[in-house]
Parts: sequence; C-alpha cells; structure tokens
Amino acid sequence: MNIMLLGAPGAGKGTQSKYLIEKYGIPQISTGDILRAAVKEGTELGIKAKECMETGALVSDEIILGIMKDRLAEADCQNGFILDGFPRTIAQAEGLETMLNAMGKKLEKVIALAVEDSNLIDRLTGRRVCLACGGSFHMVYNKPKKDGICDYCGKELVQRKDDNVETVTNRLEVYKNQTAPLIDFYKARGVYFEVDGTKEIDSINADITSILERK
Ligand code: AMP
Repeated sequence: MNIMLLGAPGAGKGTQSKYLIEKYGIPQISTGDILRAAVKEGTELGIKAKECMETGALVSDEIILGIMKDRLAEADCQNGFILDGFPRTIAQAEGLETMLNAMGKKLEKVIALAVEDSNLIDRLTGRRVCLACGGSFHMVYNKPKKDGICDYCGKELVQRKDDNVETVTNRLEVYKNQTAPLIDFYKARGVYFEVDGTKEIDSINADITSILERK
C-alpha cells in the first residue's frame, strides 16, 4: 500500500501516520523528521536545511528528491509506505512519479486532512513532539499519558523551534502557495480523497481506514 497524507502543517498527518504504521505494518516517511534528525546530528544535509526550516521556507526540491530516492529504495518500503510531508511542490510530485515509475510502483491513494487555518495555529503552537520517533501530541487536545513524555518511545517531548506564531504563519502561507496545488495534481490522477481533519482522532482514523480499504 503506497499512500500519502496531505495537509497543512498541524493537520494531523504525523498523528494519523502513527496509527497506520501499526495497522498496516508499513513505514511512515516524514521528510520533516529526516531533516530534523540531520539538523540535530549536524550533518551536511542538516547544515543546508537548518535555515529554511527555521523560517518555515521549503528546502530545495533537489535535496528533498535526493533524500527520497535513497529512502524509497530501502528494504522496509518494499510492501508499501506512508508519505508524510512529501511531496510538497509540483516538482517534487513529478519527481516522485518518475522515481516510482522506474521502480514499477505508483502512489495509490492521497488522503488530505482538511482543517481551517485558525484551528491550525492553535494546534501548532500547543504541539509537543518527540524528536526520537516523531510522536506528536498537544498540551490540550491530545495529551501524552505522562506529562512531557512520548507515549510511543518514552523519550522527552519538546516544542519544535518552528512551532511559534510567526513561523507557523509563514508555513501556512507556504502551504497554500506551494503545496495546495497538489490537490488538483492528484485529483487529475484519480487518487485524491479528503477527510474532515477536525473530528476526533479515532474518528478521522476510521474515515482514513475506510478509504484505504475501498477497492
Ligand atoms: P514538517 O515536519 O513536515 O512540518 O517539516 C518541517 C520543515 O522541514 C518544513 O517547514 C520545511 O522547511 C522542511 N521540509 C519538510 N519536508 C519538506 C519537503 N518535502 N520539501 C521541502 N521542505 C521540507
């Protein structure tokens, strides 16, 4: 099952991915998580990506496509994958299509999580994440079982540097201008589906599962 979760920052892609990993036994590939790990380790990739990430701009298509080419070739992607935060531009979507064609694969379903901007700012500024496993929580709407600790791996939860009001506003603008055009791109390919991302987490999960299990 090769799928992508599409949606603005804070729409719940990471949260829903965690459920899908468990249910279908396929990996989540989050370019944001890969980049954050690189920044933390201070690798060449991390040094290149850091500034863009801090301002909420996008890292170049060339860098992102390079990362994804290697990642999709790894053994754990053989039975499928959940793309989270990639592609984010039409050029990335075209690059992905070319890569998957060459591997004899295709993106089967793109599921968009629809949430309004006013809601997103609140979600992002109250978000706490785990830099070790990508787990994502909210101080009010999706509290971890133990304060400040990740439910999935037991590591510490932190606030992302780019989850402040100013950067969030910029990220939402970037989403509208550069990523939202993917909706028409995937509609044209007949693989686009949309769910209401403002419902309860379990209910959104049920909506996504029912789309995935449709023939
Ligand atoms: P995310 O965790 O998906 O919100 O991503 C955090 C930041 O990483 C974004 O604001 C971008 O700076 C960068 N980033 C993540 N994924 C991509 C991508 N597919 N293309 C370009 N930049 C990305």
